[in-house]
Amino acid sequence: MADLPPASNECGDCVAMGSTWVHLRQCLVCGKTGCCDNSPNRHATTHSRETGHALIQSAQPGEKWAWCYPDNAFFIPGDEGGWVLFED
Ligand SMILES: [Zn+2]
Ligand SMILES: [Zn+2]
Repeated sequence: MADLPPASNECGDCVAMGSTWVHLRQCLVCGKTGCCDNSPNRHATTHSRETGHALIQSAQPGEKWAWCYPDNAFFIPGDEGGWVLFED
């Protein structure tokens, strides 16, 4: 999960459609930025389904968390780098 390109500040798929989004997510496998599930087109989830890329992170400024689709698991940054499973 190292050496990802920086997240985009737009959902390229939405821009291509002339659509809009609510929040942005970045694929932690390939670095593609897509829109969240509150957005009309849910491109981040569509990308995961189409590619099998299982992990995304928030691409919103100030937000730092990751989500694993197959495990329905939420991760937060670990003290020593990487991600740790969030359990409340
Ligand atoms: Zn989108
Ligand atoms: Zn990807």
